Amino acid sequence: MVMRYTLPLPLCLALALAAPAEEKKPAEPKFTAEQLDFFEREGAGLMRAEGCDLLHSFSGIREDLTKLFYGNYFLELVNEMTAEREEGREVYELLLSFLSGLDEKEPEEEIVRVFEIRMLSLYGYRPHMKSCSLCKKDWDDLRNSPTVFFSFEKGVLVCEGCSKNSGPLIPLSLGTARLIERISQMEISKIHRFKFTVQALQESRALLPRFIMHQLGKQLKSLKMLQGASRGTGREAGG
Ligand SMILES: [Zn+2]
Repeated sequence: MVMRYTLPLPLCLALALAAPAEEKKPAEPKFTAEQLDFFEREGAGLMRAEGCDLLHSFSGIREDLTKLFYGNYFLELVNEMTAEREEGREVYELLLSFLSGLDEKEPEEEIVRVFEIRMLSLYGYRPHMKSCSLCKKDWDDLRNSPTVFFSFEKGVLVCEGCSKNSGPLIPLSLGTARLIERISQMEISKIHRFKFTVQALQESRALLPRFIMHQLGKQLKSLKMLQGASRGTGREAGG
């Protein structure tokens, strides 16, 4: 149930999540941010971590199963989207900020969606929501046709008039398109506790995980676990 991650992060900063050695033992996820000193033997290709200073310890996440599901998804998303040894100061700060929020507050689906939007933005996959990618009609032009579509293959908005022969599309309202655009631009200190309407939650849940899955070429294990956990509690969080 607990997964192990070795995150390729800069400045020898890494978030570690330790898995239990044996299945029978209770899981002991660490959920700590540690400063690791990496060294690399010439020609060996592998980096080894030596020495470790504890920077943060997220005990609130470790003690709550639902929070663990959320945190696992954040970690797996970062792990999958970040290339080995990629410069990643911004993503590290994003992750730290979201884990700190999760550590302190009750988990809500909004934080998963906001994290997804910010991760997409950081990696250059920000959904283009401001106008139809084909006819260029903007939100103002489209205000009388509130249902638009998102092409998860291209990462762009498509209006109803252009929706035929545009490949697989996910319907959404203009309101949700605006919300996703706003979150992708917002200062990070303001995006925690961002409230979605029920409709925006449903639409972004149908859209964002699918778009990410298309970008990565696979479904994330932790997302499935998060979906299972959310169904169990009556709260949706996956896709
Ligand atoms: Zn159009």
